[in-house]
Amino acid sequence: MKELNLKNIHEDINRCFLCKKPRCRNNCPIDTPIPDIIEMFKDGKLEEAGEILFNNNPLSAICGVICPHEDQCLGNCIRGVKSEPVKFHELETYISSEYLKNARFKQDGVINNRIAIVGSGPAGITLAFILAKKGYKITIFEKNSEIGGVLRYGIPDFRLSREILDNIEERLLELNVKIRYNALVGPVLTIDKLLEDGYSAIFIGTGVWNPRTLSIKGESLGHVHYAINYLKSPRSFRLGEKVVIIGAGNVAMDAARTAKYYGAKDVRVVYRKDFEDMTATNAEINDAKEEGVDFELFKAPVEIVDEGVVFIDTKKVEDEDGKVRLINIEGSEKLMEADSVIIAVSQSPKNNIVSNTQNLETNRHGLLVIDDIGHTTKQGVFASGDVVTGARTVVEAVAHAKLVAETIHEYCQSAN
Ligand SMILES: Cc1cc2nc3c(=O)[nH]c(=O)nc-3n(C[C@H](O)[C@H](O)[C@H](O)COP(=O)(O)OP(=O)(O)OC[C@H]3O[C@@H](n4cnc5c(N)ncnc54)[C@H](O)[C@@H]3O)c2cc1C
Repeated sequence: MKELNLKNIHEDINRCFLCKKPRCRNNCPIDTPIPDIIEMFKDGKLEEAGEILFNNNPLSAICGVICPHEDQCLGNCIRGVKSEPVKFHELETYISSEYLKNARFKQDGVINNRIAIVGSGPAGITLAFILAKKGYKITIFEKNSEIGGVLRYGIPDFRLSREILDNIEERLLELNVKIRYNALVGPVLTIDKLLEDGYSAIFIGTGVWNPRTLSIKGESLGHVHYAINYLKSPRSFRLGEKVVIIGAGNVAMDAARTAKYYGAKDVRVVYRKDFEDMTATNAEINDAKEEGVDFELFKAPVEIVDEGVVFIDTKKVEDEDGKVRLINIEGSEKLMEADSVIIAVSQSPKNNIVSNTQNLETNRHGLLVIDDIGHTTKQGVFASGDVVTGARTVVEAVAHAKLVAETIHEYCQSAN
């Protein structure tokens, strides 16, 4: 994670025009009051700014580091039209990390309802903060031994410091949040059991942890891994020198950079289209390039074999309607040698909970069905985050979880 220097932040922030119609704020999915924060920073009101940022986005310290800023505040800064855009996210990271480290939280009151939160990723943490502050008795059930979800078990620590997560956990504990670690909800501890035990509402924020497959021969061979499994504990893996990563999103970039970080010499990201089609941010692609990751474009995997992966060349063609299609170039199949192959082509939800719960509907992708404000199809059960939207971003999970927290609050108050 980049070291922040307060002097540099000051210089950069002084370049802000404080626009009347701030495009940075308008393009922030959680409507961060950017100009107000900048004014407070200039007035030296750091604690106040930290509190406002936290109340608007409990994961502000994390969003400052890992949001796709080039599509949001940074990419829409008017300064960026003629020169360098203002890096508000660096100021946000600085203020919000200090606030999380130094603030001491307490509950606003006592509300005698128990709420169960299943999953401690961005969605679950957001909900826990909002409802615990109001006074609810919160229990988080987390299947892993530490909280954070993808923030801890997906995004590499060279990109996101674990200290922020530890501070978040401390603040949650101050709000009397109980955390049950290594507690998988579904098969044994069922949703119905939680309801029987008197939880007034249950929130499901379990994310997407089933790797999607390529559906080609060879995916079960011993040197093939799914990125989401690899990133969970990269130290356990012996990948060898030559690693081929198949995919083009941020997960693929994280897997490639991590493989390089742990010593693989020749790491190649292979993708069936062009750079402009990749879903990874330019920042992540550039970081990967700078760290020595190679890219092979217009190649689609055909089969994985002991020696590596057979790819076929592809190309874009325009049909009569002007639509661009991707076609394989027959006869161009060629082996790309690899000691290990990592597949990073997105994720879908696991079904531990839905297969053990009546009346909890999913759509054809296995994602939980909810209404606009977070009610699932089962009374008293709510959901948000990737398990509802599919793989998206942290800020989107937080923004929607904020809304669902209010839905749960209203639900509990109307029942009391
Ligand atoms: C490698 C990777 C890199 C990413 N990089 C970025 C990025 O740079 N910027 C960005 O904005 N987004 C990024 N994302 C996406 C982002 O992390 C997710 O959109 C976000 O974490 C979703 O939050 P969530 O709370 O819905 O789910 P998750 O973060 O997946 O958390 C779900 C939690 O539920 C727990 N859980 C699951 N099932 C159960 C169960 N049955 N019982 C108990 N606990 C359970 C899991 O262990 C986990 O802790 C990345 C994703 C990945 C995989």
